[in-house]
Amino acid sequence: MPSAEIVGGGIAGLVASIQLARKGWTVRLHERSEALRAGGNGLPIFENGLRVLEALGLHEAIRTRGHQLNHWIIRLSSGQKTKEYEPFAATGGRIVMFQRQALVDPLAEAAVRAGVTIETGSRVLSAGQEGLLHLEGGRRIEADLVVGADGIQSIVRRSVAGKLPLGKHRKGAIRLLIPIHPGDFPDGNDHVATEYNDPSGRRIGLLPCSSQTMYMILVALLSDPEALSMPIDPGLWKATFPTLGRFIDRVGSEGHYDEYHSIFPPTWHYGKCVLIGDAAHGMTPALGQGANSAMMTAYSLGATDLLNGSLSDALTAWEAKIRPLVHFTQKFAEGITEGRLDPKNDIFFSDPALRPLLSADIPNMRFDTPNFDALNPSLSDAV
Ligand SMILES: Cc1cc2nc3c(=O)[nH]c(=O)nc-3n(C[C@H](O)[C@H](O)[C@H](O)COP(=O)(O)OP(=O)(O)OC[C@H]3O[C@@H](n4cnc5c(N)ncnc54)[C@H](O)[C@@H]3O)c2cc1C
Repeated sequence: MPSAEIVGGGIAGLVASIQLARKGWTVRLHERSEALRAGGNGLPIFENGLRVLEALGLHEAIRTRGHQLNHWIIRLSSGQKTKEYEPFAATGGRIVMFQRQALVDPLAEAAVRAGVTIETGSRVLSAGQEGLLHLEGGRRIEADLVVGADGIQSIVRRSVAGKLPLGKHRKGAIRLLIPIHPGDFPDGNDHVATEYNDPSGRRIGLLPCSSQTMYMILVALLSDPEALSMPIDPGLWKATFPTLGRFIDRVGSEGHYDEYHSIFPPTWHYGKCVLIGDAAHGMTPALGQGANSAMMTAYSLGATDLLNGSLSDALTAWEAKIRPLVHFTQKFAEGITEGRLDPKNDIFFSDPALRPLLSADIPNMRFDTPNFDALNPSLSDAV
């Protein structure tokens, strides 16, 4: 049986591992951490990501571990409402919130069921185009396929493509989970995501992941370091968002800080090595599409027939099919992050150009909709 070694046990690596194992590959997944831990925050999974989960047979996980949103409200920092959307009507698709771990766990369970060997505490030090992996401790492994799903700082990418410049963007974010208290949703509807925007660039998003737990994201410009210091300064955030004091008080010393990066490698495949997820197409989080796109590239790689004919030809065809959509997403997200698109930041749902992305037909891989092709050039000009 052909062998695939997957580097990285995040969402991309897990999705690819399931698909490849189901296609008859012997799959081993290497995760450097001692456990498949996903960090303590939340993730909105859009229609495209949900279709990947469904194509993997994880309907039950969506139902039992996800929390579907029915409204998305945009407010000014004063609390004044500027827009309200119904996700399905606005995007043609669903948005289901997950705590990250609640997404990683069913994916890992499905991977094990599919026969994937998951090795935690297994750090890859380098990879070679001929399918060679060097691991910590001196171990060497040769495989028919090496999948670099090791995130934005990918060591696999660096090994096969050299040191490529990471796009560094002007924002950073602190993410955490807070408990939901009685009265947080005055009308009793706890399926509402709300974002608050201040002209200074500060932003707070509140997205319930369940009836008990809320994902909170605090965003600011890198030129505003006081706002991004950890632990957060509650007085500073309350002064900007006077209606959010009760949520800001729940932050305490919690939170994980990240800056925004992107990457555009010249190609996603090098000999027997292929990159997926953030390793291939890390993007700014303005559209909430990093993990969703990672699921698409991972799924579509696994769905590609890599065993008949030349591997290089198959990977070239795969990349040609999916990369334009992901590239469009990266550029769109970057345009919003850099303030080149819609200063009110309400483009999120209102721009029809996003529809082909959010409702992409993943299982059949029909990414190349005429609608998308028609829109793409004008959007490239815009960003
Ligand atoms: C502030 C912020 C907000 C975001 N919000 C959203 C959002 O709302 N929606 C969304 O879809 N996306 C969002 N994202 C993006 C999302 O987090 C990523 O796109 C997604 O996690 C990428 O998944 P991945 O599996 O490719 O990489 P990762 O999640 O980075 O996983 C890579 C894995 O590889 C492992 N690894 C790394 N190096 C090695 C090695 N040498 N050997 C072995 N293992 C290794 C790591 O430990 C890790 O487990 C956000 C990102 C940021 C920074």
